[in-house]
Amino acid sequence: LQASQLFSVKDYVCVVTGGGSGIGLMAAQALAANGAKVYITGRRADALERAVKSHDPAEGGEIIALTTCDVTKKDDLSKLHDELAKREKYINLLVCSAGISGEKAEPDESSAKSLKEKLWNNETFEGWNETYNTDVTAVYFTTVALLPLLQAGTESHGHLSASVIVISSMSGIMRHAQGHFSYNAAKGATVHLTKLMSAEFMKVRIRVNSIAPGYFPSEMTAKESDEQQKSSLPDEKIQEKGHVPMGRAGSDEEMAQAVLFLTKNAYVNGEILAVDGGVLNV
Ligand code: NAD
Repeated sequence: LQASQLFSVKDYVCVVTGGGSGIGLMAAQALAANGAKVYITGRRADALERAVKSHDPAEGGEIIALTTCDVTKKDDLSKLHDELAKREKYINLLVCSAGISGEKAEPDESSAKSLKEKLWNNETFEGWNETYNTDVTAVYFTTVALLPLLQAGTESHGHLSASVIVISSMSGIMRHAQGHFSYNAAKGATVHLTKLMSAEFMKVRIRVNSIAPGYFPSEMTAKESDEQQKSSLPDEKIQEKGHVPMGRAGSDEEMAQAVLFLTKNAYVNGEILAVDGGVLNV
């Protein structure tokens, strides 16, 4: 029962969408550092190349950039499958981390008329749909595209070793009045989609779980910072928001531990693992 054995992903083949930055990159680095061959994909070739360079092959494992893929496009997902199928007979893990945060509407108005004006302008139909397509629909279709390769992963390693980790959010669990309707609603759907897929895809012996992060350093959270140079939301801002009792962002190591746990524990299915500094679930 040594940790090095329990959490080893040696010989695992993994795929990470949105693997060029943020939480996707943290997952890719954690898996590679523990022996896996990790294919990353996303929309930006330069980000994928930087991610490959961030891994020291001397540590073991590998990070390999696939051709770019927009996960909201079915043709791109077919190409992703074909490219993987040419290289590998199976995959053991898919991490769906590609995501966008959409527009914030900040509805602090007291009159319904001004509230409507604000929401109607900021939360455009296009923005809402783009967020939903990326954060929910694409998670479903990416998983479906790779189902046969995942099932082959279960067969090759046994013990329900093949699984999907969906990166949802604390925003999909808590009732959080921060004017972020499209994102929070989409993430709520992502949480439920995880549970549904975990039940449906158990029929083909594939587990599906989710990590619901609080604040982690990434391009997405950096956008919320006032200072351009920051790579994350500063802890003072997190404290101001008031819903994270630990008052700080999570670390790469804390994300790595969650990813390895869900990857290796074959008795966990349909779980939404909050890694969020103990967010008050209101
Ligand atoms: P990020 O912006 O660094 O990473 C998201 C990645 O997804 C980027 O590399 C982006 O280019 C890629 N991407 C976006 N749309 C895509 C598309 N259509 N096709 C392919 N790739 C696409 O931000 P992040 O915070 O690492 O986000 C990763 C996931 O984590 C998201 O689903 C996000 O909602 C979730 N999340 C993040 C936090 C946090 O604090 N960082 C908290 C909760 C949830």
